[in-house]
Amino acid sequence: MAILRIGYGWDSHRLAPGRPMVVGGVRLPNDRGPLGHSDGDVVFHALTDAVLGASGFGDIGALFPDTDPRYKDAGSVLFLREALALARRKGYDVVNADVTVILEAPRLHPYRDPIRLSISAAMGIESDRVNFKAKTAEGLGPVGAGEAMEAHAVVLLER
Ligand code: MG
Repeated sequence: MAILRIGYGWDSHRLAPGRPMVVGGVRLPNDRGPLGHSDGDVVFHALTDAVLGASGFGDIGALFPDTDPRYKDAGSVLFLREALALARRKGYDVVNADVTVILEAPRLHPYRDPIRLSISAAMGIESDRVNFKAKTAEGLGPVGAGEAMEAHAVVLLER
């Protein structure tokens, strides 16, 4: 009988002028982007934590410390691929992933499909196993003020 394990991840990064805006591995035209030791991709960070959570490997900060120079400006796809490699070594495969990004600008609507395809390519799974949603904070809080962005992710694994 299949063993199912669910994991949840959340991430938030401050936005700063002149930083590249990268969402799920897709670079978007914008004058601000996430500050971070890595590229600050909240989608891949939240997904990494969801995979680690489902497979019982703790969290992204413990596995990929931001004091480690190897991860300076790293493409965050590295974290997600490494987390999935750990999960697969325990015999887990991804059933599906669901991601929500909360960001005031740019509007992500036109990029939903490229981002979904980029996530599925990064995870090495069929694109119909990935769902991507984008929202704004309707002007509320630091996300609403355009000072930060957030992502939430849920991943289901099966062994
Ligand atoms: Mg992060």
